[in-house]
Amino acid sequence: MKLDTKCVQSGYEPKNGEPRVAPIVQSTTFAYDTPEEMGDLFDLKKPGYFYTRLGNPTLANLEEKISALEGGVGALATSSGMAATTLAILNLCDAGDNFIASSEIYGGTYNLFNVTLGRLGIECKFVNKNATEEDIEKLIDDKTRLIFCETIANPAGTIADFDKYSKVAKKYNMVLMVDNTISTPYLCRPFNFGANVIVHASTKYLDGHATSVGGVIVDGGNFEYYGNPRYPRFNEQDASYHGLVFGKDGSKGAYILRARVIGMRDIGAQMAPFNAFLTMLGTETLHLRMPRHSENALALAKALKNHKNVEWVKYAGLSDDEDHKKANKYLDNGYAAGMVCFGVKGGREAAVKFQKNLKLFKIVTHIADSRSCVLHPASTTHRQLSEEDLVAAGVPNNLVRLSVGTENADDIVNDVINALNKL
Ligand SMILES: *Cc1c(COP(=O)(O)O)cnc(C)c1O
Repeated sequence: MKLDTKCVQSGYEPKNGEPRVAPIVQSTTFAYDTPEEMGDLFDLKKPGYFYTRLGNPTLANLEEKISALEGGVGALATSSGMAATTLAILNLCDAGDNFIASSEIYGGTYNLFNVTLGRLGIECKFVNKNATEEDIEKLIDDKTRLIFCETIANPAGTIADFDKYSKVAKKYNMVLMVDNTISTPYLCRPFNFGANVIVHASTKYLDGHATSVGGVIVDGGNFEYYGNPRYPRFNEQDASYHGLVFGKDGSKGAYILRARVIGMRDIGAQMAPFNAFLTMLGTETLHLRMPRHSENALALAKALKNHKNVEWVKYAGLSDDEDHKKANKYLDNGYAAGMVCFGVKGGREAAVKFQKNLKLFKIVTHIADSRSCVLHPASTTHRQLSEEDLVAAGVPNNLVRLSVGTENADDIVNDVINALNKL
């Protein structure tokens, strides 16, 4: 099936007499006739549901849909994008371990990596976009477990150099983990470019209507953990499952199996069934929304380029953008999603004024909604970062982030240009 069809159909197939729409199974637990049957589920001897923290039919529908779109072997739905990234990293790293991440990433992820994981004894070594393969290799030691990047960085708008990261990851027999939130599987499938694990904030375009915070981890099934000394937890016998060895017994889905039955079991950041239902519904129109978001964003980026109150525009869809080549290489049809960033002349003060002048664009801490919205990261999402960290994260203090919706392109452009004219 083509991607468009998978958006609509994947994840649920009704059997005779069953509801046409994947139902919301709003139940914490599942009943069995015998204690032996339930025991087998706990021992992972049989597949089945017993407690929604570990699995639920509605979550399974969404997991299957996103896994099908990404071309993975399995997925795990989480309560938020941050929960997805946290569980995804903890599935590979213990205290004393380290990993490498692009410094151009989402502000919340930057804090998680830079502060919270550091306090747990997991060190993140950041690399900027100019780092060469040799620069990255110098940071790798026996305890380095993965490389992390964002396909389209939020809000920096840069496109990950998958060729560079995957070459280094392969050379060191190491996992490449990609946050594919902004591009979505409709525009980019990172497993085709060397990724082994994908994380999503389904909060964004997958939902697409700003109704449900959520996340998804997807396993590419394309990495051999068994026998690889970098991943001791996949090669030892697990005491909590009677000596099961995840790398061997989990076969191609070893990563996602362990994320669920260890990570999710112990940390408990599962998605709510109702949120999974809404996210499924949103994803059914992903193929209709992403081209529209992208076309509207390109029209707006072009208009911004010519405005006297605009210092610079960052949108990889623009033909003279420094990431445009990578956009053409990794993103389908040159579509670069709906996030457009620009530097307003007059810095922080002008950014505040500009936001007040907008009518259609609402000020919200969100992107990827079908309704257009605006944010000034330096005074909101990234306000914990120092001026130095802001620049390293690709978020200078005059950066305004626009999330271009699916409204009419003329209305979108007029609203922004009017707001700029009034400065
Ligand atoms: C929003 C976002 C996240 C975090 O997702 P939440 O659902 O808000 O926790 C992670 N990565 C990227 C790229 C995001 O845009």
